[in-house]
Amino acid sequence: MRITTVFRRLLGVEKMVVEEVLFTIGGDLAIRVHPTWRRSRCAACSRKAPRYDRQPLRRWRHLPWGRTSVQFLYEPWRVNCPRCGILVEQVPWAATRSRFTYEFEELAAYLAQITDRTQVVAMLGIAWATVGAIVQRIVARRLDPERLSNLRRIGIDEFSYRKHHRYLTFVVDHDRRRVVWAGEGRSSGTLQPFFDLLGLERCQKIESVTIDLSAAYIKAVREGLDQAEIVFDRFHVQRLASDALGEVRRSLVRSLSAGEAAAAIKDTRFVLLKDPENLTDHQRSKLAEVQRTNQPLYRAYLLKEALAQALDYRQPWRAERSLKDRLAWASRSKLRPFVKTARTIRKHLPGILAYIRTRLTNGLVEGLNAKVRMITRRAFGFHSPEALTSMVFLCCGGLHLYPPLPTGS
Ligand SMILES: [Zn+2]
Repeated sequence: MRITTVFRRLLGVEKMVVEEVLFTIGGDLAIRVHPTWRRSRCAACSRKAPRYDRQPLRRWRHLPWGRTSVQFLYEPWRVNCPRCGILVEQVPWAATRSRFTYEFEELAAYLAQITDRTQVVAMLGIAWATVGAIVQRIVARRLDPERLSNLRRIGIDEFSYRKHHRYLTFVVDHDRRRVVWAGEGRSSGTLQPFFDLLGLERCQKIESVTIDLSAAYIKAVREGLDQAEIVFDRFHVQRLASDALGEVRRSLVRSLSAGEAAAAIKDTRFVLLKDPENLTDHQRSKLAEVQRTNQPLYRAYLLKEALAQALDYRQPWRAERSLKDRLAWASRSKLRPFVKTARTIRKHLPGILAYIRTRLTNGLVEGLNAKVRMITRRAFGFHSPEALTSMVFLCCGGLHLYPPLPTGS
């Protein structure tokens, strides 16, 4: 077998001829290559096009062989494409404008998917910003173009980055469990480009949308997806009750300066918010102390628990009856934060009860949210929302990348 053939096989790049293999002074492997096709192709439209002039020598980094780094050398032509104008030709081993081969980019994206910035940079010896650019190209090539087709049940949520100064809104497909869209901001207008992208027909196929109780998303969904049922995320609803409890507690802390009741209330925040089933013995006795010494706070605690439990019912009529009873109790409780919470819940009752029927929550979205927060930290240094969005798609968009390694037998 000719040595150039051996190399071509080892490099694993199709449609490429190896001309010559040399070592650079630094000990890197430099491989002169050219495309197998005789007539050059336009990088923009892939069609054959007449050559215009020749460019200076360019280098592309390929996967290293052991400790030896490997680069491809070629002097690309510029072509005069009748459609696209004068452009550098397409090469079979790399994307336009990339200084890395496809295989190298796949590896970089794969590592960015599974590990953090320090590791990726150390393993590949490239700058983090370069990884960001690679991720954007991989996502553009690999993101499922059908991701917006046949959407039936979706979730919308936001996450903040840059220390809560900036927001991205993202849309997940509940059925296929992946992020399908992301946009900058969290106002009602943020979702308009998503609706435009879907088009009327696909918008009308959407049956349910889980959201939190934000007025902006409610407005956007009512206007953009008017036939879809809004399902309010139960955990956001429960948070309303927890927040009300917190408010009651804080105002009691302010009003009680000393004495047994004040002592009992100390360090109760976590005890009151924790799932009662998970309380330790010490926490349980703390709760008993609150019950004995501070009736209003204990009442607030029971209300919070009762509202959460009403959402546990499986039958909609039971949940509705129970929730209405408990809301009436909250309204009579003389605890102002709960009176207000009851009003909010009543106002959104149909969407809250829709959860009982559909059992859809933003849990998936929130799970993704946690993942995205981790990614945001990892993507620190990716300053543009586009780079961040690409990172979200890379890790939560259902992309399957395979490291360029031998397949196991
Ligand atoms: Zn062209």
